[in-house]
Amino acid sequence: MSLAGYSIDSIRAGLIEKKFSAEELAREALAYAEAENPKTNGYLTLAPERALAAAQAVDQKIAAGQDPGPLAGVPVAVKDVIVTRGLRTTCGSRLLANYIPPYDATAVIRLEQAGGVIIGKTNCDEFAMGSSNENSAFGPVRNPAALDRVPGGSSGGSAAVVAQGTAVVSLGSDTGGSIRQPASFCGVNGVTPTYGRVSRYGLTAFASSLDHIGPFSRTVRDSARLLQVIAGRDEMDSTSAFAPVPDYVGLLDSAALDGNVRGKKIGLPKQFFEGLASETGDLILEAVGVLKKLGCEVREVDLPHTPYAVACYYVIATAEASSNLARFDGVRYTSRADSASTLADMYRVTRNEGFGAECKRRIMLGTYVLSAGYYDAYYLKAQKVRALVARDYAQALEQVDAIVGPVSPHPAFKIGELVDDPVAMYLSDIYTITGDLAGIPCMSVPCGTTREGLPVGLQIFTRHFAEAEMFRLAEAYERASTS
Ligand code: GLN
Repeated sequence: MSLAGYSIDSIRAGLIEKKFSAEELAREALAYAEAENPKTNGYLTLAPERALAAAQAVDQKIAAGQDPGPLAGVPVAVKDVIVTRGLRTTCGSRLLANYIPPYDATAVIRLEQAGGVIIGKTNCDEFAMGSSNENSAFGPVRNPAALDRVPGGSSGGSAAVVAQGTAVVSLGSDTGGSIRQPASFCGVNGVTPTYGRVSRYGLTAFASSLDHIGPFSRTVRDSARLLQVIAGRDEMDSTSAFAPVPDYVGLLDSAALDGNVRGKKIGLPKQFFEGLASETGDLILEAVGVLKKLGCEVREVDLPHTPYAVACYYVIATAEASSNLARFDGVRYTSRADSASTLADMYRVTRNEGFGAECKRRIMLGTYVLSAGYYDAYYLKAQKVRALVARDYAQALEQVDAIVGPVSPHPAFKIGELVDDPVAMYLSDIYTITGDLAGIPCMSVPCGTTREGLPVGLQIFTRHFAEAEMFRLAEAYERASTS
């Protein structure tokens, strides 16, 4: 049975009214995921034992008259770069095909404590490097909206399973757009919180200064609920923020929402609309029209350093990746090549056989930009550009309450279409990367489909830690555009 008709709230109500038990729902969800997964390859591993144990614990709490938690009985999927104790975590890499982590990520602990039921782990680009999910060692994911197309990446599996109705919500990770871009391609909501809002403990590091964990969902409200559960300071991640977590969901209730959106100032970055004469551009402008009808005041804003963002990102992200991926060496982590005769050979052969082409490309690029002779010319310069991009947003967000624009210049492309052109692939993140460089919250909200039926997402950015504002705008838009 598809989970597409369920929300976190409707599951809670169903459990309390005894329409179904958490165990029944988990069994149905697992059976449906198993039956449907061959269409999309969204899941790499299903977790029946873990799911049923979590569901039974929810049922026992309800029977005992205890609060079963804000995610009670909700089938959740988790991207396979987020570690789960005792449950295979591959990071989409052949190197970790059999890796069973000895601990849980903080976000996983929190969602299970809240009553969430982890159904399985989702496919992704190897070590979260990619924009199409074609860099997974376990085969591409197919977009449920059009099976010959990519779901976006790198969290393609997490977006696809929510769109397909084999999970109600899921967790993904975003370093340069990997939550928002697949959300946009698959027609679901995807949220990249403020950097530090959610603990990265247990998220396999790609580029640590840019990595975020965040939710996918069908409704804005469900993303707000899931973020509320996983957000907040964690002793295990020194970059997690102390800032208190507001009641995101409470702030979406009608009384609180009404009037809040009216009069809000919305900025359209002129750099995001230059050359966007396409169906995507039309859908974004239609969505802006809806915001205007809601009483928002729309004006143009300038983010002058946007053209440098992709280059800046691919210096910083590859530099950090080259260092972070050093641990996958056949000694500290990963399977080990047994054909080598010397220690140096063992490292070389293990890494050569284990990593896919994209990871190798990035390790080489990152090592190059950090090398003594080039550090100042590339890495240091990229850090300076990053500061300028962040300043663009800070200045624009002094004039407006939120910035909106497209998530991606185009909807989902065909599987195989861009694999031989890494630069074209990198450019598909042109509108998402700046949000990560600035560390501000941003999300993708579905805003319609092209004539071919391909989903398009509207991107919303707000100030640091202003997720509540972002959700309110998104919720108002969702209500106005779906009513
Ligand atoms: N597509 C971008 C990249 O390949 C972003 C990846 C991500 O956000 N994890 O690096």
